[in-house]
Amino acid sequence: MKRFDYFAPESLDEAIAILRERGDGGRLLAGGTDVLVQMKEAGLHPSYVVSLRRLRELRGITFDEQRGLRIGATTTMADVAEHATVRQRYPVLVDGASIVGSVQTRNMATIGGNVCNAAPSADTAAPLLVLGAQAEIAGPDGRRRTPLEGFFTGPGRTVLAHDEVLIGFIIPTPAPRTGGCYERHTPRAEMDIAVVGVAALVTLEPDRDVVREARVALGAVAPTPLRALEAEASLAGGPPSDEAFQRAAGLAAEAARPISDVRGSVAFRRHLVQVMAARCLRRAVERARIWPQMDTDGHRF
Ligand SMILES: Cc1cc2nc3c(=O)[nH]c(=O)nc-3n(C[C@H](O)[C@H](O)[C@H](O)COP(=O)(O)OP(=O)(O)OC[C@H]3O[C@@H](n4cnc5c(N)ncnc54)[C@H](O)[C@@H]3O)c2cc1C
Repeated sequence: MKRFDYFAPESLDEAIAILRERGDGGRLLAGGTDVLVQMKEAGLHPSYVVSLRRLRELRGITFDEQRGLRIGATTTMADVAEHATVRQRYPVLVDGASIVGSVQTRNMATIGGNVCNAAPSADTAAPLLVLGAQAEIAGPDGRRRTPLEGFFTGPGRTVLAHDEVLIGFIIPTPAPRTGGCYERHTPRAEMDIAVVGVAALVTLEPDRDVVREARVALGAVAPTPLRALEAEASLAGGPPSDEAFQRAAGLAAEAARPISDVRGSVAFRRHLVQVMAARCLRRAVERARIWPQMDTDGHRF
């Protein structure tokens, strides 16, 4: 590693002031599980590093029925995966957060770091996309919100300016009878990155076995995680049948724009999307059918 200046600000304003003053060429540090590896092994040499560790306002999870779920950017994967409300209402996010690396990785890795690192294979990106997450960003001119769909601009690239900090995600409360599922394929059972990741979210009509709304997002098959909009549209208003899932999965495979590399060919990745999308949709509907009737305190919805 080359020498760099290190800052550990106590407030968000202080962090932004440092970024503004020092200019381009710095790096924010959250859990460090991506950035430190890149600095040690991948030729990343920031002239300065700003740690987010002391910024308490960036960490934690709150839920409000009207406003939805707010997850601070430096909340760890372990905290996301273990949070009672997240487990009950947002299982698709638990599917993603709970498979990141090992126990040790999940205790350090943050959800904001996963998204800001902008790897097409990031395991929380597709779940956040189907959940309709908004990214909350702070910079010298104040705060702004942007749908996660417009956040990624390429592999390792996002809309964030050098003096902006992702402060968290706002995720709407899912409608009743909503179920979600995220799966990835990795050659090894653990400690590997996705060759393909698929997230599905399905809302059934309150009183009938008909799909009201479906969302499908794909990871590791394009320069950025993406929604498969035609697959989603093909399901709305129809029965949640195997035939419908197969048709939607075919459309999802068409939406993928994978590359061939050592980990899989274009044809292999498209085939995986087809198989996994159908499976995820089926699982999402199973979960929608057992939508919880009680909140975590035992109150009826
Ligand atoms: C052993 C190992 C296994 C892994 N397995 C997986 C896996 O299975 N799935 C997976 O998706 N990833 C995996 N990863 C990658 C990594 O753990 C995740 O991407 C993690 O969530 C990154 O979070 P972090 O807090 O460590 O980010 P950091 O490394 O601290 O930061 C990552 C990037 O995001 C920027 N950043 C961080 N926070 C903010 C913020 N609030 N605002 C603006 N920019 C910010 C940093 O400047 C940096 O560029 C693995 C990594 C390791 C080392």
